[in-house]
Amino acid sequence: MTGTLAVVGLGPGGAAHRTRAAEDAVRDAQVVLGYQAYLMACADLTGPHQCVLSSGIGAEQQRAEDAVRAAAGGARVALVSSGDAGIYGMASLALTTVAALPPAQRPAVQVVPGITAAVAAAALLGAPLARDFACLTLSDALAPWEAVEARLRAVAAADLVLALYNPRSRGRSWQLGRAREVLVEYRPGDTPVGLVTDAGRDSTQVELTTLATLDPAQAGMHTVVIVGGTSTNRLGDWLVTARSLGAL
Ligand code: SAH
Repeated sequence: MTGTLAVVGLGPGGAAHRTRAAEDAVRDAQVVLGYQAYLMACADLTGPHQCVLSSGIGAEQQRAEDAVRAAAGGARVALVSSGDAGIYGMASLALTTVAALPPAQRPAVQVVPGITAAVAAAALLGAPLARDFACLTLSDALAPWEAVEARLRAVAAADLVLALYNPRSRGRSWQLGRAREVLVEYRPGDTPVGLVTDAGRDSTQVELTTLATLDPAQAGMHTVVIVGGTSTNRLGDWLVTARSLGAL
């Protein structure tokens, strides 16, 4: 008999931003798998009666396979991700891994949504995502940089507000600076930019700047960068995008 696999988005970090469905899925699981930092984010929900398996940050395919194997073997499994598991998270890999199994061996899968970083950051900044926006990852780990930059140009030209994920990490230090150079070709230097680090955690930091003055060193591994569009204004300490859109 096959078991079940819940692919769970834990939200941006703190317990206050987890959904009840996410908490139930982790509590009900017999096996909980995830990157060690995500397991820490739900350590209050797990206990000695569960098998908690932690893995390193890069080992995503292995983690998906381990989770699917345990579920196919009959266990109730929770595979945890930060934010939303479907957004730069584990849901895609998990579903692809399940689909590769013969139908009779496939566990039932449930994807449990979570608050993604863009939304958690936007709430701290005010209302920058009030109209159309795009999420982009600046990571070139799974795509050539040329493809990342082509998408950045397309959304920059479309005047969408941008939420830039993975702006910087220990091994990737130049991508945000290059993205800034591209964006100033399309948007004025005084375009408001907000950097939010550790949204939803005790260590939350919010910085307001502009495209002209954005310093890539302000971003880290847990930063999401929100870049305004033509209808985004700085109102005191808030970034607010107007609901109405002028004629072209
Ligand atoms: N699945 C996650 C995203 C994983 S990609 C989600 O839906 O949020 C990892 C990137 O997400 C980080 O580089 C950072 O850009 C962003 N991120 C994750 N947690 C964050 C947090 N608490 N505050 C700000 N950005 C965060």
